[in-house]
This record gives sequence, C-alpha cells and structure tokens, in this order.
Amino acid sequence: MESIKAPRGVRDILPEESWKWAFVLDVARRTAEDFGYAEVHLPVFEHTELFSRGIGETTDVVEKEMYTFQDRAERSLTLRPEATASMVRSYLEHGMHRGVQPVKLWCAGPMFRYERPQKGRYRQFWQLDVEAIGASDPFVDVEIVALSLELYRRLGLSNLEVKINSVGCPECRPTYRKTLRSFLEPRLSELCDTCRGRFDRNPLRILDCKNPQCAAIAEQSPSVVESLCGECGTHFGLLQRGLEEIGASFSLDKRLVRGLDYYTKTAYEVLSGDLGSQNAVCGGGRYDNLAEAIGGPHVPGVGFASGIERIVLTMEQQGCFTGSAPHPAVFVVCPDEEARPEAFALLHLLRQSGVSADMDFTGKGMKAQLKVAAGKGALLACILGSEELRASRMAVKDLESGEQHLYAREEGVASIRSLLSNKGISRKDG
Ligand code: ATP
Ligand code: MG
Repeated sequence: MESIKAPRGVRDILPEESWKWAFVLDVARRTAEDFGYAEVHLPVFEHTELFSRGIGETTDVVEKEMYTFQDRAERSLTLRPEATASMVRSYLEHGMHRGVQPVKLWCAGPMFRYERPQKGRYRQFWQLDVEAIGASDPFVDVEIVALSLELYRRLGLSNLEVKINSVGCPECRPTYRKTLRSFLEPRLSELCDTCRGRFDRNPLRILDCKNPQCAAIAEQSPSVVESLCGECGTHFGLLQRGLEEIGASFSLDKRLVRGLDYYTKTAYEVLSGDLGSQNAVCGGGRYDNLAEAIGGPHVPGVGFASGIERIVLTMEQQGCFTGSAPHPAVFVVCPDEEARPEAFALLHLLRQSGVSADMDFTGKGMKAQLKVAAGKGALLACILGSEELRASRMAVKDLESGEQHLYAREEGVASIRSLLSNKGISRKDG
C-alpha cells in the first residue's frame, strides 16, 4: 500500500522554514500593537451564509473556491476563505459597535480556497488580517495602508509597489456601472467567456480579469474616479494627501476593483516585484456595507489581508532573513549507559535554568554524539560519562575552538552559563 500523502495544494511548514514564519508573525504582532490593534482568534469555519452574503455570490471566492460541507446536523459550514467577514461577524455578535470606535483588531491563521495550486498559491494558506471597524475617517484608511507598509519596512522588504483606487459607494457606483457598460457593450464579443457572464451581473469585475485581451480593453476603459460622488471624491483626495504626508509612494490603478456592492471607496494592493505572477503581497480596502450585508446595522470598516507565504517568499528572494533556525546551545554527551540518569538530570537542570539543551537518545558512541552536537549547531558539548561521574566532574568542550575543561559537577550549570555568556548567549527566560 502506498503511504498517504498530504492533499493537493497544502504545504507542511517544516523547521527549516517555520522559524521564518515565527519571525514574520512576531514582527507583525509588534507592528499591530504599535498601531493600537488587538489580537483576536476566530474560528476557521463559519456558517456558509456569512461568506456568501459577506463576500458576495458573484465573486470567484464564493462561486468556485469555497470548501463547503455539511456537518452531522446537516448545517452548511464553510472553511473560511478570508477573515474580514468573520471579523465583522464577531464585532457585531459581541456588541463591539457599542464601545469606543473604531475597534481595531488583527488575527493571523489559515484560510482555505479551492484554487489551482502553484507557487505562491495554495489551498490552505495563512493570512495576516488587520481591520479597523466603526469609523469612516479617510485617515483610518491611511493608517491601514501605513501599517502594512511599516510591517514590510520592519521585515526589510523592498521593491514593493502600492496601488490604490476608489470604487465609490452605492450612490455613485451605479453611474459608473452604466458608463462602464456602455463602453464595454460594443466590445463584448472580444471579452472572455467569464467576462461576458460578468457583464450583466458584475461588470466591475471585468476590470481585473487576467486574460490579456480583457486586460487590454480594461486599460482603455473610463476610470471610476471620474464618476465618484462628492463624498467619495473628497475621501479619495484625503487618502492620497495622507499617504503623501507619510512619504508613501503609490500609483493610481483604475483597474484595481473589488467588484462587490459592500466594498466602498478605498481599494489598495501591495505588489512585490520579486514574486512573478502571484505578485500581490497584500490586498485591502474599505467595506462600509459589509456589516449590513451580513444582517447588522450600518458600520463602516477598512482593513487589509496579507499572505504569509508570499511575504516569506519575497523575503527569501530578497535575502531578508539573516538569522537561522533555533539550535541548542548545549549538547549533553553521555557515552556510558550507566551515567544516563545523571546525564539526563543535568540536561533538565540546564533547561530549567533557561539554557537550550539537548542530548542523544539513540545509544550512539561518544564520537557520533559529538558529531550530532556539531551538526545541530550546539556551541558547547557537556560530557558526563561513568568516569566523570566517579570523579564528580564533567567535561565541557567548546565546539568552536575545540578546547576542553573539567568542572566540578555541582558547579557545572553555573560554569556553562558563564561560558555561554562569554559567547554572547544569555539565558532565554531573562
Ligand atoms: P490574488 O489576486 O493573488 O488571487 P486575491 O485578490 O484573491 O489575490 P485577497 O483575497 O485580497 O487576494 O487576499 C489577500 C492576500 O492573501 C493576497 O494578496 C495574497 O497575499 C494572499 N493570498 C490570496 N490567495 C492566496 C492563495 N491561494 N495562496 C496564498 N496566498 C494567497
Ligand atoms: Mg484570488
């Protein structure tokens, strides 16, 4: 029988890579905190309705990409394809609209989309999701864009491009939809099948079609910005003014749309010049009509979602990772079976005193254990065999210089700590 493999489109994040994720998530946490955003943990499955109403029936995500299943009580549930709808659901469910606004939250975790797997595109992937719910001030939009850019700056990313647009509101979008339809109508036969289907249901979606022929037509299309109502125009102006004030460079992209009714005003994306075709590191925008779409009162909101895989890929591409996977500082070497209980006790004592330490559990000989110690990147080997035990000693070998010294057993841990602190390694628990 063939052994079972992981399903298509999912990835194991193994130790060579997981430390990079921990680094990214750690920087994300600190950046979010510095901007006043608090962490929440949300469920990975929700009622299907939350997404069909919250993201919109005519989007790719809802039409083709959701993992939907019935549970044992025949409820229709869906593995979350994104976090914004859940975030707003949680905000409403816990009455956060009654407190101080905006409520600023972030979360990170796996999302699920049935897509064609390729580099930078998976069926389970992680997003960092940051949302400010309950304020319509354009400077909250500026703050959201600024937070994402500050995160990428702290991560050391460069060669990024920020694109912004405004998709208007329910007041001005119908006008634009009309303008766009009359522009597209004579060109309908040149569009791809999907876009012809979009023409009636959701013509704005045609603007971000990846088909080259549709893209060429979209490039010629009238800009939504020219159709904006007074309020949306002012909002878009202040967003740009705010970005200029913080020195963020950006460009306008009239094809950047989130073609859904509850997405309003600001749309933005951060693209990486080093990612090839899956080049969006982050996407975000304002969704003033989302809360209503899922049955709540009118609550404005704005946020972004950034793919962790794509952040890590870009950082690897740009050589941003300077650290390495964690390795034990000390390797306890025990060449004799009879000394193992004491060797294990020493190992435990080191760990309790905040020194990262490890040992062999496979009965290897002295030489082989030292080899493993070096392979794991340990700085010191602490040798405790029968001979050392009888003499109430232990030998400590510096694996960098090869020097070896004997220490009294009861001073062992203190000696190791001071040797490590000479090497600039301090205990981890402060
Ligand atoms: P794309 O244009 O790449 O399909 P999207 O518009 O579907 O992106 P959003 O829904 O805005 O993406 O999600 C925000 C971010 O999540 C993206 O910018 C990307 O970094 C990441 N992302 C989206 N889908 C995937 C996926 N299948 N695998 C890995 N990361 C993804
Ligand atoms: Mg997508």
